[in-house]
Amino acid sequence: MPRPLKARIHLSSIRHNLGLARRHAPASRVLAVIKANGYGHGMLRVAQALRGADGLAVLSLDEAAALRAAGFSQPIVLLEGIFGVEDIPAVVDNRVTCVIHRPAQMEWLCNAAVSRPIDVWLKVNSGMNRLGFSPAAVADAVAHLRQSAAVGNLLLMTHLATADERRGAGWQLAAFQQSTAGLSLPASLANSAALLRYPETHADWVRPGIMLYGVSPFADESAARAGLRPAMTLQSEIIAVQQASAGETIGYGEGCRVERTTRVGIVACGYADGYPRHAPSGTPILVGGAKTQLLGRVSMDMLAADLTDLPTAAVGSPVVLWGEGLPVEDVAHAAGTIGYELLCALAPRVPVAEEE
Ligand SMILES: *Cc1c(COP(=O)(O)O)cnc(C)c1O
Repeated sequence: MPRPLKARIHLSSIRHNLGLARRHAPASRVLAVIKANGYGHGMLRVAQALRGADGLAVLSLDEAAALRAAGFSQPIVLLEGIFGVEDIPAVVDNRVTCVIHRPAQMEWLCNAAVSRPIDVWLKVNSGMNRLGFSPAAVADAVAHLRQSAAVGNLLLMTHLATADERRGAGWQLAAFQQSTAGLSLPASLANSAALLRYPETHADWVRPGIMLYGVSPFADESAARAGLRPAMTLQSEIIAVQQASAGETIGYGEGCRVERTTRVGIVACGYADGYPRHAPSGTPILVGGAKTQLLGRVSMDMLAADLTDLPTAAVGSPVVLWGEGLPVEDVAHAAGTIGYELLCALAPRVPVAEEE
């Protein structure tokens, strides 16, 4: 018998979430963001489920090559662009669209002798101050790119820093529009949060990531309310039950001392599987479909759940760490992080079960 921990990937949920993205942005093309191994769900698996997406976004040329080898023919955008001039042959071979976010990347591409022009997404720093050309430099960069025979189709992109927060997207949209006015180029601004909340940012391409995996980009709105369905359920079983008397401690250290007689279920899942070690006592967990709480510190391979109020729970009872019935956002919130990080951190040792 295998260890009972597994990640179930719900392909129909991914398709549903793509459909929702399309309904929100009916006039835009969808660049499905599948970086970080498809946010932990498996890049090729997710790409298959998202076959209908108009384009795919990744970080590395290896990922782009794997997608081409698997037969994907839509545009593939390299979100950080290339890292050196020696990357250009692979860009051409795999027909990769390159983000250009700094002048050196522009020079590499403009001066390349290529058999086929390379499509470029020029990144504008509209206020996030992470990647991109300053608004004042955009027009010159466009002019430079336009005169190079190595550069094919051009698009202008920017990334939004606060689309999931109260400050919203308007301030960056204004900066972007001001710096790109009159350039007559297609544009892309929206991540999941902007796709869901700010239609004025949709432009020619939207770039949803987290929403495709059924996770809300907002702290103040659940995925279910947004109509999203979780794409990953991390599940396991109780593999041992202990009875702790009042005053005893649970697991490593003395941090969790129980005040009453407590039934403790030991779950086959730990931080080496990607469960956050910083999740404190009280973090939600489902046992036999009922919500209960984590007790004590998360170990490398195990964690403890409170079964005191679940008298029928026993060895073999199913446990959901996150997913169906328990949003990963809720676990992440308790652990002081975001759902994105938990999904991406799913460990390679966790077996994946793909299902409709
Ligand atoms: C990761 C990423 C996205 C997707 O963001 P979500 O919040 O997951 O929707 C979009 N655009 C860029 C440039 C990204 O790096």
